[in-house]
Amino acid sequence: MLVSAKEMLQKAKAGHYAVGQFNINNLEWTKAILLTAEELKSPVILGVSEGAGKYMCGFKTVVGMVKGMIEGLGITVPVAIHLDHGSYEATKACIEAGFSSVMFDGSHYPIEENIEKTKELVAICDDLGLSLEAEVGSIGGEEDGVVGMGECADPDECKMIADLGITMLAAGIGNIHGKYPANWAGLSFETLAAISEKVGDMPLVLHGGTGIPAEMIQKAISLGVSKINVNTECQLAFAAATRKYVEEGKDLVGKGFDPRKLLAPGVEAIKATVKEKMELFGSVGKA
Ligand SMILES: [Zn+2]
Repeated sequence: MLVSAKEMLQKAKAGHYAVGQFNINNLEWTKAILLTAEELKSPVILGVSEGAGKYMCGFKTVVGMVKGMIEGLGITVPVAIHLDHGSYEATKACIEAGFSSVMFDGSHYPIEENIEKTKELVAICDDLGLSLEAEVGSIGGEEDGVVGMGECADPDECKMIADLGITMLAAGIGNIHGKYPANWAGLSFETLAAISEKVGDMPLVLHGGTGIPAEMIQKAISLGVSKINVNTECQLAFAAATRKYVEEGKDLVGKGFDPRKLLAPGVEAIKATVKEKMELFGSVGKA
């Protein structure tokens, strides 16, 4: 069922596990993630970036597809459709389109402006029962053309934003979007612990979940991370499985060119990746 991310994340924070946000790109992605969540009885958050929303022909198409799929596949676990790194305008557009959760990324604004805009969105989301994620301290790597350096957020600024009444907070702790470089310094657990202490019960969000070692993920969860975003890892798994299918010449055998056959190994690869993450995050059986 389509729900906001509020209850699932509060439960995760209290239960010391994390819910995965898996970004979607099309029907295959969405189906693979929803089926895995249902099979494992795990709550799940479907992440949609502005670029992916555009690719899927608009936020309303995304909402229609997800709602239809929840019904058509008989999905009973809690599912949130969440805007990932939204601009102020996109956040409003997603609220309008029927998303159950949004992230307003005001991290590039001066803190005063981030606070002002976040405050306005808190009021709107509260009214409609939607969950709202805010961000302090930019997260490294590239997301839809925006490149950050992987800074650490200021715990006092985190507290200022958390106190506005948002649902969950993304704070930079040295994490990066995309693949991690070989010389990556790792997550700053000192920063995470300091933020956690300041914000209390507020669920924290770890972006850039691809390639963070399992023991760092577990430590982050123990320090208050309740939502972990995974995007690149599903893309790599899908691409590798599709490449293998074509390189083995399977598209040239019989009706192997049928898109439903051609894309099937990629779908299975996404399912396997999502399963592995849900097991690591501890969300299996929590729906
Ligand atoms: Zn992110």
